[in-house]
Amino acid sequence: MRQIAQGRNEVVKKVSDCYRIALLPGDGIGPEVTAEAVRALRAAEALAGGFSIETEELSAGAGEYLRSGDPLPESVFERIPEFDAILLGAMGLPEVRWPGGVEMTPQLDLRERLDLYNGVRPVYLFHADDSPLKGRRAGDIDFVIVRESTEGLFSTRKVACDLSADAATDTMLITRLGAERVIRAAFKLALTRRRRLTLVDKANVLPSMAYFRSVFDRVAGEYPGVETDHVYVDAAALYFVNQPERFDVVVTENMFGDILSDLAAALVGGMGMAPSADIGDRYAVFQPSHGSAPGIAGMGIANPVAAILSAAMMLDWFDTAATRRAAGVIRGAVSGVFSNRAARTRDMGGTMTTGELAEAIIGAMPTVLESGRTA
Ligand code: ATP
Repeated sequence: MRQIAQGRNEVVKKVSDCYRIALLPGDGIGPEVTAEAVRALRAAEALAGGFSIETEELSAGAGEYLRSGDPLPESVFERIPEFDAILLGAMGLPEVRWPGGVEMTPQLDLRERLDLYNGVRPVYLFHADDSPLKGRRAGDIDFVIVRESTEGLFSTRKVACDLSADAATDTMLITRLGAERVIRAAFKLALTRRRRLTLVDKANVLPSMAYFRSVFDRVAGEYPGVETDHVYVDAAALYFVNQPERFDVVVTENMFGDILSDLAAALVGGMGMAPSADIGDRYAVFQPSHGSAPGIAGMGIANPVAAILSAAMMLDWFDTAATRRAAGVIRGAVSGVFSNRAARTRDMGGTMTTGELAEAIIGAMPTVLESGRTA
């Protein structure tokens, strides 16, 4: 279940085995699922050994905006270099908006300001019954979407829009540097998996996407060991549903990746099962792909698995034998717990609370470690 190819850039590799993690729990269910991810991290740390973690909570999000007038205060942003990684819950609330009408999205600001271009979105089916697709067993759906996360169709998202004007535009920005670096990251990931990389674009219609494809084809020459293909984004939506097993690693621009990640999450149980990492050359943010789900916030029923698996991705990114082992323990425990169809939160048809599911996953960790069934 390889999900991150490279660990941290050699330049920032550290000598100490203590990792400082900034927690940004955020809004809605963010704090609930982040708390369970930290519990799982601590359990894996204690069991696997060989490293330690320290956490500190920082405030950002719609709630912070209501308090201070800024969803990502500079006093928070400037502290980021003190940490080895950021674990984020979820941000934004539908009723808290900028005057122009859009929601607060400090998580997007973080991606852009920290240059987190490599958006890694693993899609893995733990149990046949969790997929709406017929006849798929655990592990049959196992691919990773690599979403460019700093440009693409999100590039003009901050340009003010005159709502009374007769037209509005957004710009799909693809730069050579932006395309090359995310495509290389996807190739490197494919080399650690089944060595297949699919470019998802719209090169038949959009010039920016024809450019993206030309960069892809050129970079592909550097990786002769990886089999490649091109799929238009509309066809990708179809193939995700009727042939998901054809995919290993998929690379695409920002907006297509945003949409396809949610579709892919639906194949494996929903947003509560969709972890993610946004990785740059220096910094990385790990967060569940879901939003703040205000409709269920505070009820204790949010699915913590996406957040827990995101924490495991963070351990992979630290890239030592000990942290990779701990990540494998977490994923193995999720896999073990999910083999029992009853162990689910409400979003997946079960009755467990957020805390009960996290507790079951933590409880499964010692057996996973002893049996070597890490994932
Ligand atoms: P965003 O725009 O920030 O991505 P969104 O409004 O599209 O957010 P989510 O907050 O991700 O949507 O929620 C989509 C649906 O999935 C909602 O019905 C929500 O309750 C449900 N959901 C999301 N995350 C979870 C979770 N961890 N556990 C249970 N249900 C969840």
